[in-house]
Amino acid sequence: MISYKITLKGLVQGVGFRPFVYREAKVHAMMGFVINTADGVVIEAEGCECEAFIKALRENLPKHARIDSMEIVEREFCGYSDFEIRESTLGVGSVAIPLDTALCPACQAEMDDSSNRRYRYPFINCTDCGPRYTIIQIPPYDRVRTSMKHFTMCSKCEAEYTDPSSRRYHAEPISCPDCGPKLRFLDNNGNEIAGDPIALAVEMLKAGKIIALKGLGGFHLMCDATSDTSVSELRRRKHRKTKPLAVMFSSLEQLETYTEMNEDERSIINGPIKPIVIVRAKNGTNLSAHVAPAIDRLGVFLPYTPLHRLLFEAIDFPLIATSANISDEPIIVRADEIAHRLGNVVDGILSHDRSIINALDDSVIQMAQGRVVMLRMGRGFAPHTLPLTNPLTKSILALGAHHKSAIALGAKKNMVLSGHIGDLGSIEADGYFERTIKTFKRFYDCEPDSLIHDLHPTYTSTRYAVENNKDHIGVQHHYAHILACMGEYGLDEKVLGFAFDGTGYGEDGNLWGGEVMIADTHGFERIGFLKPFALLGGDKAIKEPRRIALSLLFERYSLDEVLVLKSPTTEAFLDHEIRQLHHMWLKKINAPLSSSMGRLFDAVASLGGFIQTLDYEGQGGMIMESFVDDSITEPFDFTVTDREIVLSPMVEQIVVLSRQSDAKRLIASRFIATVEVMMQHFVDSHSELPIIIGGGVFQNHALMSRLYRRFGNGRFYAQQQTPINDGSIALGQLYYTLHNLPHPEDAGSFRGL
Ligand code: ZN
Ligand code: ZN
Ligand code: FE
Repeated sequence: MISYKITLKGLVQGVGFRPFVYREAKVHAMMGFVINTADGVVIEAEGCECEAFIKALRENLPKHARIDSMEIVEREFCGYSDFEIRESTLGVGSVAIPLDTALCPACQAEMDDSSNRRYRYPFINCTDCGPRYTIIQIPPYDRVRTSMKHFTMCSKCEAEYTDPSSRRYHAEPISCPDCGPKLRFLDNNGNEIAGDPIALAVEMLKAGKIIALKGLGGFHLMCDATSDTSVSELRRRKHRKTKPLAVMFSSLEQLETYTEMNEDERSIINGPIKPIVIVRAKNGTNLSAHVAPAIDRLGVFLPYTPLHRLLFEAIDFPLIATSANISDEPIIVRADEIAHRLGNVVDGILSHDRSIINALDDSVIQMAQGRVVMLRMGRGFAPHTLPLTNPLTKSILALGAHHKSAIALGAKKNMVLSGHIGDLGSIEADGYFERTIKTFKRFYDCEPDSLIHDLHPTYTSTRYAVENNKDHIGVQHHYAHILACMGEYGLDEKVLGFAFDGTGYGEDGNLWGGEVMIADTHGFERIGFLKPFALLGGDKAIKEPRRIALSLLFERYSLDEVLVLKSPTTEAFLDHEIRQLHHMWLKKINAPLSSSMGRLFDAVASLGGFIQTLDYEGQGGMIMESFVDDSITEPFDFTVTDREIVLSPMVEQIVVLSRQSDAKRLIASRFIATVEVMMQHFVDSHSELPIIIGGGVFQNHALMSRLYRRFGNGRFYAQQQTPINDGSIALGQLYYTLHNLPHPEDAGSFRGL
C-alpha cells in the first residue's frame, strides 16, 4: 500500500474533473479523496494500483481538461475507507479560470429527446458544456459563487448534482424546466410580451425584423442574413456602413452550401468552443450582399447554446449574429440596457434571468496553413492563463494599449490575459476596462504593486497607470508585440522580431509600425523600419488612405509630376486639394511621420485603386486580400539603406502597373510578396535567430499563409493562443516586467506552452 498526495494545476475545474478522478479511483480501488483548492485539484490516494491510477489520470483526461503540472508527493498512510469528492475550499491560487463551452453532443441528444425531462430545455448543460467564466463571481468555481446561486435545485437536479456517476455531478449551472432560469420575450421598451418567447422571436425573424438575443457572454443582434432589407436596415440603425457582420448557420451542412472550408476550419467551427471563424465565402449564394461588402471572406459560426438551437429548429435561413453594442463599445449583457441603449435598433428582445456576470465577446479566429491566428480572444478562450513555476511575491498589472484593449495580471503563480475589452476612449469602454481590472483583482485576491503601460501619453490605459500613484513602467508598443509572442512560447533568448502594425508610439515620438528588431526580454535594438512617411492630416489620413498614398507620391515625384500623374490616388483628388496637401507635406503641417506597415497597406490600397476612403480599420488590406493570387510571387523593388526600408521604387512600379488591365490582382499579389522578401532580407543576415512576428498586419490571411510556407519549417513563432494584434500588448508588457523586476527572485520562472 502506497499513499500519495497529488496536486494538479491547469484547466481542472468546471470540466468534470473531480468525477473523472472519482471514477478512476473506483476503477483502481483507490481510497482517499479529491478536492478543489486554492492551489489546484488535490488528490489524496492510497491503494495498490497507485501507478496505474496516476497513469489513467494523465491519459484519460476529460475532453476540456488540461493538466499544466502534476506534483506527486509520497505521504504517510492514513487508512481511508472509501474514496470521496470533498467540497471545495475557498481562496484563489493557480487554478485556471474555467472557460465557457458550447452545447455538447450528449446534452444536444437529450434536448432533442421528447421523453427526456430536459426536452427542448434552453439551459441544458453538463460538466462537459455550458457557461463558466461568464457566470463566475469569484473562484473556485462552485455554484454558490456563480449567478446560478439564485436558483434552488429541485430534488431531481440535486440527485444528479451529488451523484458521482452522473454526467452532471457538480455541473455548477445544472437546472431543469422545474428549477432553472426562464426565457422571456420583451418589446424594444423592455416590456414583457405574453406568449412562447421562442415562437415570438422566430416570428419576428421570419418577418425580417431585428432581435437581440442573450448568448453566453452578452447579447447578439440577429436578423435574416439572406434578406437585403433586413441586413441594410440593421446597418442603417446601427450606423455600421460596411464592416463585415458575422453569420450564424443552423448546421455544418448549411454552412457547406455557403462557404468553402478546409478540414482545419471545419473542425474548429464544429469543435467544443464554436468561435467565429473567418472562411472563404462561396459566390452566388442567397446571402445578402450587405453582409460583407467587397470582401470574399465571411465570419461564420454555429449555434453554441441550447437556445440558439431551439431558434434554428424553426428557422431555415442563416442569421446575422453580431455583438449587441454601439460601434466598438463593449458587448451589452442586460436586457434593460438593450432596451435603453439599443431600443431604436431592435424590434424585440429574447432574454432570460440567468445573469451574465462577466461580459465576453465571441472569439474570432482565422486559420492559416492549419495554424490558428487569434483575431479576437473572447468566449471559450478568455481569460487565458499561463502558469508560472515559482510564485510571484508581487502582483503586476499590465494595462495594454488602446484599440482592442485587454489587460494582463501577473499574480501568485499565473500570468492571466483578459478577453477583448474593445476600443478605449468611450465612457462605456473605459468603464468596462476598469471593471475588468476589478474582476481580476477579485479573482486573484490582489492589489497590484506595479502598473505597466504603453508609451502613448494620452491612452486611457496610460493615464490610468500614471494617475494611480504606484510604480509604473512604460513598454514600447512594438517591442511589446514581440514580447507577447515570446511570452506565449516561453522564450527568453535573443530573437529577430517583426512588428508590423497600425500605429503605435515610438521611442522617438514618431508613429512606428513597420519595425524590425533584435530583442530579448531585457531590451531591443531597432535594426530596420519603413522609411517614415507623412500622414497628411494626421488622424484624417488613417480614414483616407489616399492621403498617405499622396505623400508617398510626393516622396517620389515633383508636385508638377504628381498633378499630371495618371493614378487612382491622384484621380481621387481635385488639383487644388493636391496643391494644398503638398503644401502641408512640404511645410510639415499636421503631417506626423509614421513607419507603419498597416498604413503602407492602406496606401497601396489607394495606389492600386482598391479603396480611397475607409469605413473601418484594416479595410484596405482585407479588400486587397481577395485579389491575391498565390501563383504570383514576384516582389516589387525596394532598397534598405542605413536601417531604412525605402519604398520609392515600389511606389513607381505600382503607379505604372495600376494602368494595366488586371492591375489589382498583380498589385495585391506582388505587394504581399514584397513584404515577404523584405522580411527575408533581415532573416538572411540574422539566420541564427528565431523569427518572431506580432502586430495587426499579420491578421492578413494571405500574408500569414505565405509566411508559414516560407518560414514555417524553421524556428518561426507566431501567436496562436493569444491575439496576434493589440489584444496581447498587455501580455507582452507583463512578460517584460516579470523579467526585469529589481529582485530577480520575484520573477518566478517561466514555462512555455
Ligand atoms: Zn453537455
Ligand atoms: Zn431541476
Ligand atoms: Fe499594435
